[in-house]
Amino acid sequence: AEGLEPDVASLVARRASSFGASSVLFYEQPLHIVRAEGVWMHDAHGRKFMDVYNNVPSVGHCHPHVVEAIARQAAKLATNTRYLYDNVHDYAERLLATFPAALSNVVFTCTGSESNDLALRMAKKFTCGGGFIVTNTAYHGNTEAVMAISPSSFRDRVVPAHVRTVAPPDGYTDPTGDVGARFAADVQAAIADLEANGIRFAALIVDSIFSSDGIFADPPGFLKPAVDAVHAAGGVFIADEVQPGFGRTGLNMWGHQHHGVEADIVTMGKPMGNGFPMGGVVTRREILDPFCQETGYFNTFGGNPVAAAAGMAVLDVIEGEGLMRNAHEVGGHLRAGLRALMADFPGVGDVRGAGLFTGMEFSRPGTREPDRDTATYVINAMKTHGVLIGAAGAHGNTLKVRPPLCFSRDNAEHFVDVMRTVLAAR
Ligand code: PMP
Repeated sequence: AEGLEPDVASLVARRASSFGASSVLFYEQPLHIVRAEGVWMHDAHGRKFMDVYNNVPSVGHCHPHVVEAIARQAAKLATNTRYLYDNVHDYAERLLATFPAALSNVVFTCTGSESNDLALRMAKKFTCGGGFIVTNTAYHGNTEAVMAISPSSFRDRVVPAHVRTVAPPDGYTDPTGDVGARFAADVQAAIADLEANGIRFAALIVDSIFSSDGIFADPPGFLKPAVDAVHAAGGVFIADEVQPGFGRTGLNMWGHQHHGVEADIVTMGKPMGNGFPMGGVVTRREILDPFCQETGYFNTFGGNPVAAAAGMAVLDVIEGEGLMRNAHEVGGHLRAGLRALMADFPGVGDVRGAGLFTGMEFSRPGTREPDRDTATYVINAMKTHGVLIGAAGAHGNTLKVRPPLCFSRDNAEHFVDVMRTVLAAR
């Protein structure tokens, strides 16, 4: 606790005492946050931070419309989900209307992990297979089954027998020049390898913005050949929309739509309730039915009235405030500003992304070799300047720039200004 302010030191100690090794915090000097609104978070010392990382409060911290909807519903009915009540149907229908007609059913959950756990089970049941393909540094959640397909969390680097990993569609370091064809060829080889080992292929599951792999969005369409290969092999394509979903990528409500593909199963979480914990799985009836017949699935909290109210209010705000258009426009402006820094700072190797999901990769000047030290320096220096960001990618050398969708042009310009200051001081 050396060098920590007394309130921070005390909370760190209490946290260690209660939560033991399970306590995970950002920064060497963790932040003691007391409130937030819009894109701003405030700490116990009256300092304010621009939040350019947090994708949970996606329509803005403590958005009054969402807060009011949650409070109003909590005062009226908050219960387990085995009753008829109106708002869950309104919400389900409105959510499903954002998908192609075939994706006609939704199962509500409470977290992204739970959603992916269900997706794996549905895929297994539907395909009679058990083999899964994921990207090298994917994260899909924390249940036992989902950990097995989350290589970014493997401590021992041992890939389970039913899982194959493929390199992400990384157009920056890919030497072939056709990242979609390369990705599809790797997926095809992984399917063949599973089958050669007597494991029937079930599904390819990807986070369609490849957040923990380093954020890859371009060129649009790069997922298509791989998804075609999955279907040709009798497998299903699971789009994990926990990160890119709910309009973050700007032009599309769902990240995989950027690639012109249709998913068989879509999973979602984080931004869905703007901080109210909720998730979901959207799929076709023919995939859901056999799964439910076998398991008699039930979820105590998933789709409860308060969650439905929160989810509905989030959709209201995305639509009413034009947040997808904002994400597209401000995201483009932000990336243009960051790209302009490349002329003066050769360590900035790449700036990429879609909507308000940007990756900024640091490489050793003149090469494409990862430079984690600079990324780590920038994250800490930006915090000193009141701006919060994180890192992604196998080497931790890509900044994850992912503000609430209400991020303004002024916010983006402030971010670029601070980035310039911080890089110049390196
Ligand atoms: N999928 C992806 C792509 C994620 O980023 C995460 C969370 N970081 C999850 C699933 C798991 O979601 P949760 O933490 O809500 O269980």
